[in-house]
Amino acid sequence: MNTVAQKNCPFCHYPWEKIPIDNLEDDDEAFYFERYETNGPHKLMKTINVLRNDDILPWLIAIKRRPKYCEMCGRPLNEEEE
Ligand SMILES: [Zn+2]
Repeated sequence: MNTVAQKNCPFCHYPWEKIPIDNLEDDDEAFYFERYETNGPHKLMKTINVLRNDDILPWLIAIKRRPKYCEMCGRPLNEEEE
């Protein structure tokens, strides 16, 4: 059972709000962030991306893992959406 806050969590629902990564060095030229993304139906993954000032679209640096739950709200992510 998910709470209202979890149902409205912007980080684990499309269009997947960006999660800033603070532990990378601050850089005016580039913004590093993590993001939940789908790779096909029910294949959720967490990615690390960077967006530089001159970029229109962010670059995918790495696929971090298959998340089992949202780190921002704790909602389980391995359940199928209805
Ligand atoms: Zn969430």
